Amino acid sequence: MNHSVNAPLAGQAPYPRLLAPLDLGFTQLKNRVLMGSMHTGLEDGRDLSRLAAYFRERAEGGVGLMVTGGFAPNIAGWAKPFAGTLSTSGAARRHRVVTAAVHAAGGKIALQILHTGRYAYHPLAVAPTALKSPISPFKPFELSSRGVERQIRAFVNCAAKAREAGYDGVEIMGSEGYFINQFLSAYTNHRADEWGGDYSNRMRLPLEIVARTREAVGTDFIIIYRLSMIDLIPGGSTWDEVVTLGKAVAQGGASIINTGIGWHEARVPTIATSVPRAAFAGITQKMKREFVAAGIRTPLVTSNRINTPEVAEQLLADGFADMVSMARPLLADAEFVKKAAAGQADQINTCIACNQACLDHIFKNRLTSCLVNPRACHETELIYRPSPKRRKVAVVGAGPAGLTAATLLAERGHAVQLFDAASEIGGQLNMAKRVPGKEEFNEMIRYLRRRVEVTGVQLHLGTTVQATDLGEFDDIIVATGVIPRDPHIAGQDHPMVLSYIDVLRHRKPVGKRVAIIGAGGIGFDVAESLVTGDHSTTLDLPAWQTEWGVTDPELATGGLRPDGPAASPPERLVTLLQRKEGKLGDGLGKTTGWIHRAALKMKQVKMISGVNYERIADEGLLVTYGEKRENPTWIACDNIVLCAGQLPLRTLADELQAQGKKVHLIGGALEAGELDAKRAIDQAARLAASI
Ligand code: FAD
Ligand code: NAP
Ligand code: SF4
Repeated sequence: MNHSVNAPLAGQAPYPRLLAPLDLGFTQLKNRVLMGSMHTGLEDGRDLSRLAAYFRERAEGGVGLMVTGGFAPNIAGWAKPFAGTLSTSGAARRHRVVTAAVHAAGGKIALQILHTGRYAYHPLAVAPTALKSPISPFKPFELSSRGVERQIRAFVNCAAKAREAGYDGVEIMGSEGYFINQFLSAYTNHRADEWGGDYSNRMRLPLEIVARTREAVGTDFIIIYRLSMIDLIPGGSTWDEVVTLGKAVAQGGASIINTGIGWHEARVPTIATSVPRAAFAGITQKMKREFVAAGIRTPLVTSNRINTPEVAEQLLADGFADMVSMARPLLADAEFVKKAAAGQADQINTCIACNQACLDHIFKNRLTSCLVNPRACHETELIYRPSPKRRKVAVVGAGPAGLTAATLLAERGHAVQLFDAASEIGGQLNMAKRVPGKEEFNEMIRYLRRRVEVTGVQLHLGTTVQATDLGEFDDIIVATGVIPRDPHIAGQDHPMVLSYIDVLRHRKPVGKRVAIIGAGGIGFDVAESLVTGDHSTTLDLPAWQTEWGVTDPELATGGLRPDGPAASPPERLVTLLQRKEGKLGDGLGKTTGWIHRAALKMKQVKMISGVNYERIADEGLLVTYGEKRENPTWIACDNIVLCAGQLPLRTLADELQAQGKKVHLIGGALEAGELDAKRAIDQAARLAASI
């Protein structure tokens, strides 16, 4: 795909293909945007009013069709104990608050039926064969053939209840390695009865589910089937099998075929920020060609790492699919479609694919939200009301905390002046955006810059604020961020020693052998930058595919290269160190830490834990090991980069407080420990809502 579609010119209809209606015969979708299914945590429990508020905002934002997070059709299918389930008329009545809210806002919504099979995190799991998955501690029970029948009936019943609840349709979850996928693959299905053996038997389950669901719900109800187009596991489906199933499901009653990419146990990143935009759209395009050749007109939806209207429009223009699924981008901005339609795509709050507040939260049993939009899933409690009184507010520091506070306060009607010592806004985001694989941070800065313009914040760059400069303000917000922690290592004034700021911001030259002191988020990012150099594979799809061992599923089963990943050689030999014992990168995100570790291993980064930093000298870095400081070893290197954490920069706040002034502290200036942009933005948003 070329990414050449630009923002529309004045007078030109914006994104004509993305915003074109889609006729399903019995109903029409107002555009080609499908909000993909995401579990938020609001699905669990009896009260669905917060889920209703969340979907209502997105319906008001103009999405063509939304899909809920997964609801289990029965207890066996639960993702975890007491997960959201739809199997009774009582439950259907409780869902009416959701469907009514969406319909009142002019939207359409389908309920996803998710049976987790052996991925279930509870002891009642069932599967075609009793094989434990690598991502759940529970071994499933093998279903008898009557048991299989019961699961099919549960799917059908769930769809009927969804109709009763007022949903416009259902999505049958057939991908990502869940129950249906487990029947499809010989890797997880070792049965010898009519549900196992050759492919025609293994695919019987989804075909039965789709056909019987269609029979139960009638012809005027949307059935989306989420088809695993590339499994990304050894022993996954062949392309022929995927095509056979796709065609059979389309002809067997599905209204729309959505794209699923990779089983959850796959060791290939599929949605992380380092995955190139639209990296997997080519697979949907292959299916589209098959459908066209067979005269099948069922619309196909493409998915994964599509986060701007430009990319979505281009995919449709190039015939990759008939619709585009965007899930997290609708968490990041409920008004994505509305802004695109109004020619205001530059005001869209873009999902940076970090997973930090969405997927990582779900894995910790926390409610989903969004790093760039803390209101997501908190619509009923984080409200930015117009202020009854206009106050004069000074915000010092234009990092994510200061920018968020300043723009929200200005939007609420306050007179806001924003100061930063630097010549550009963004604070540390300007370093993050330079890390290969983190290019999406540019979008965050673009959005915040545009927000400053739109909300009328008065911005003063290149202005280092002293306490005496802030006279006549009603409120002062200090968002001055952090300073690097000094690790006090003997010899650290040696010219070979650099800080992460020297490397990432000042671009100081770095030699070929490097030791990095500190393996937190920044240590990992510096290592990634040093081994990758200027060629980010996130911006080069073929190179990224080679790096992660992904290939055309027609050439290799499951889309995995038989010879595995083949990263290019590292630009530098890097040693990454920490004092703690144990695995490096343990504190990184649950859903992305493994990717960072795997990427550095592929680039031969040596990871060493449990060290003491004894001394820096011409020979390099002298370390010892353990409490007894044993085994002194020189790590020979040309440069040493300090990434030893951060401390709050509070000079200004202390001076102001010494003068008796009340200040609001947010972001790094308040607390640097474990600070990230998520916490900085969330604090700023909550403060701005309250002044
Ligand atoms: P900062 O971003 O530090 O901004 C503070 C601003 O205040 C600066 O612009 C500074 O110039 C200004 N300032 C200071 N003193 C004064 C003064 N007296 N007068 C005027 N201006 C002043 N976080 C994540 O969540 N996810 C990531 O993937 C991630 N990656 C990162 C990668 C790197 C390489 C780095 C360095 C950081 C990363 N972070 C990440 C952390 C994130 O960027 C910070 O947590 C966040 O920027 C903190 O925001 P802040 O607004 O508190 O402070
Ligand atoms: P960090 O995550 O706290 O890591 C600091 C590292 O320095 C640790 O490895 C620590 O390990 C080491 N360290 C601490 N004190 C030291 C000392 N006195 N001497 C030597 N080493 C010391 O901080 P960071 O890497 O600077 O990152 C700052 C913030 O940005 C983090 O809170 C992080 O969340 C955020 N960030 C996030 C991402 C992301 O991908 N989500 C990426 C980059 C940054 P030992 O104490 O074991 O040596
Ligand atoms: Fe996107 Fe990150 Fe927000 Fe999740 S938390 S929706 S990945 S920006």
